[in-house]
Amino acid sequence: MWTVLIVASIALASAEPVTFHGDKVFRAVPQNDEHVELIKSLASYTKLDFWLPDSELLLEVGKAADFRAGYDVAYDIQALFVQNNLPYEIMIDDLQVAMERQLNNNIRSGHSYEKYNELETIYAWSANIAAQNPDLVSRSQIGTSFEGRPIYLLKVGKPGANKNAVFIDCGFHAREWVSPAFCQWFVKEAVNSYGSDAEFTNLLDNLDFYVLPVLNVDGYKYSWTSDRMWRKTRSVNQNTFCTGTDPNRNFAANWGTNGATSSPCSEVYCGTIPESESETRALGDFIRSNLSSIKAYLTVHSYSQMLLFPYSYKHAPAKDYDELMSLAEGAVNALSSLYGTVYTYGPGGKTIYLSSGGSDDWAYDTGIKYSFTFELRDTGKYGFVLPESEIKETCEETMLAVKYISNHVLNNA
Ligand SMILES: [Zn+2]
Repeated sequence: MWTVLIVASIALASAEPVTFHGDKVFRAVPQNDEHVELIKSLASYTKLDFWLPDSELLLEVGKAADFRAGYDVAYDIQALFVQNNLPYEIMIDDLQVAMERQLNNNIRSGHSYEKYNELETIYAWSANIAAQNPDLVSRSQIGTSFEGRPIYLLKVGKPGANKNAVFIDCGFHAREWVSPAFCQWFVKEAVNSYGSDAEFTNLLDNLDFYVLPVLNVDGYKYSWTSDRMWRKTRSVNQNTFCTGTDPNRNFAANWGTNGATSSPCSEVYCGTIPESESETRALGDFIRSNLSSIKAYLTVHSYSQMLLFPYSYKHAPAKDYDELMSLAEGAVNALSSLYGTVYTYGPGGKTIYLSSGGSDDWAYDTGIKYSFTFELRDTGKYGFVLPESEIKETCEETMLAVKYISNHVLNNA
């Protein structure tokens, strides 16, 4: 029995990456409950990969649903939608082609801020940037992933006593590749701006920034080697062949309720207990032990161009709603000022949908008032396969929002 399992897992581990030839990404907008049920029933008998919302559980009348379907079922789905007057469009006609086109930077080897870097490249980059800027950047390991990989954190700022801190993490969901790209960009900007840009220098003199470039290191690695569309962690679940937990359903924020499931095969599986994952536990432990200094928590995802704040697990407003709303508005205005990118903003539960176990809600309830989730570019033209040629603009505009929030923290926390 064990031999069979071991042989099977070795075969899986050495398998060629999943390909997506002919796979289509649909955007359907259910107009009534029957339409919602139609999409849910489709999802129950064929593999639909939900891009937005995160799962068929979160479908709502009038709200767009983006999902990937295999080429073998795509035409049947179109026929069914036409037959039922369900409005839809095809956002991506061939995902394999879009995936190959997203790697459109000519530089392919080594590290670049304008390409998607593999995990080992990000590891090496984080060691180098700390070594080259010892007065501004230091690297520590805050934990180890399920598969044994280090989870590194960079502390960015001029050493000083009693400094408040802003915590920024990237790479919760493996396939959201532009997210780790932003964390790398942020550190580069800090290093390049210190001493030359008055605003950023002031921020670095008076605040520390904890930057976690990739939280879900196993998932990120897997999204490069095996399945570009992987989302969850890579932990092994009991009594099932389905792997992984959704790290952003795995925190103690009304855990295991709205918009999450206890089914390990779901993309929004909440895990066995809050912080069941090595990765979320490492993050939770670090923040709990530095709670006196961390005044802001920013978690970076993609896609949909949104800036969200608590709560996502309930409709009731957070007690700091007014301040968070005006801060979000200011941050989004700053972001949009550069390239006109349109963002929506507000509390997660009202702005998108109710979901529980998110790290932003957990951080807020733990005592970090300025808690935000960024959903970076785009709004679905490319979705998770945003071309590398958009990394620069995405990061530049996001920097403006992060700096806006950081200035507010500096002046108010
Ligand atoms: Zn995400």
